[in-house]
Amino acid sequence: MSIEGGCLCGAVRYRIEENSPPCYACHCTDCQTHSGSAFALQMPVFASKFAVEGDLLKAGTDLPSGQTSTIHVCAKCLDRLYATVSNRPGLCTVRAGTLDKSRDLSPVAHIWIRSKQDWVVLPDGLRLFEEMPGEADWFEILDTANRLQAG
Ligand SMILES: [Zn+2]
Ligand SMILES: [Zn+2]
Repeated sequence: MSIEGGCLCGAVRYRIEENSPPCYACHCTDCQTHSGSAFALQMPVFASKFAVEGDLLKAGTDLPSGQTSTIHVCAKCLDRLYATVSNRPGLCTVRAGTLDKSRDLSPVAHIWIRSKQDWVVLPDGLRLFEEMPGEADWFEILDTANRLQAG
């Protein structure tokens, strides 16, 4: 099974070779500014299971950690589709709202809720993090081990 998405104008399309990769909501102020919204819906996928077609533009941003975050946008409509980070070459973080069936998404975790906008009310039963989760939490939230094993 795979899931697909693309930009607003249709010039860029992508396919993720996974059934339902987990996604999370990030409420950090960077995501608020980047998205022009209250939070960003992010879906980290393995680069080896992610195929993109169409012309992309890239722009890099330096992170406080010293890494560079590169955002990939449609060259025609400038819709943001995914980001990569210099220290994680095998991972692409897809802007999950660009999926064709984004309506089916349900974030498994909310991070950086310290800077969450007050009107956003979070449902019970989800993993909540004041800031960035640690490595072990990430591993669990994103179900990395099982997903890698699935091929
Ligand atoms: Zn486009
Ligand atoms: Zn964020």
